[in-house]
Amino acid sequence: MRGLLVGRMQPVHEGHLQVIKSILEDVDEVIIGIGSAQLSHTLKDPFTAGERVMMLTKALSENGISASKYYIIPVQDVACNSIWVAHIRMLTPPFKYIYSGNSLVQRLFLEAGYEVTEPPLFNRENYSGTEVRKRILNNGDWESLVPKSVADVIREIDGISRIKDLSKKEVSEIANDF
Ligand code: NAD
Repeated sequence: MRGLLVGRMQPVHEGHLQVIKSILEDVDEVIIGIGSAQLSHTLKDPFTAGERVMMLTKALSENGISASKYYIIPVQDVACNSIWVAHIRMLTPPFKYIYSGNSLVQRLFLEAGYEVTEPPLFNRENYSGTEVRKRILNNGDWESLVPKSVADVIREIDGISRIKDLSKKEVSEIANDF
């Protein structure tokens, strides 16, 4: 039995790890779609799909999750929401269950006849990509929100300077970017 979780994971944080662990209590294998794979180098989507694959692979290993339990598949966005589920199916191993807290993702899979589960959110005020990116920009404590291996990847790719450079725009533009 296989389940699917899709997320932008900008960056991977402890909430993603918790939800992946809870999905693996329900199903044998989890497919993790790295959403908006074409996006990078913006304040909202600073990391490339490849960097996010690296973060996730290392975080799952750090958490003792065997590589035989998951597939990580980058998925680019498509202009038409109505064909997105078919686009995902083309790219992934077959799956029966969907796990998502995103209402558009839930709606599209429900309309395609899938069983959709909304997993509980863990410490959502802090475990969110927006919060991690804000703290990186403001020199706050972002490292406590992500697995250690993800912090190592962000430092390795010079992600802190990248986010700070991306923020060197007009203040009005920054408000829209987050
Ligand atoms: P996200 O990284 O914010 O979240 C992914 C999932 O992780 C959530 O659904 C939630 O279940 C879980 N999660 C996040 N924080 C958590 C926490 N603190 N505790 C527990 N679980 C937590 O990503 P997202 O924005 O939901 O990603 C959806 C992706 O699907 C985007 O890339 C979007 O572009 C894509 N999409 C594309 C189309 C299209 O191309 N037409 C249509 C719909 C969705």
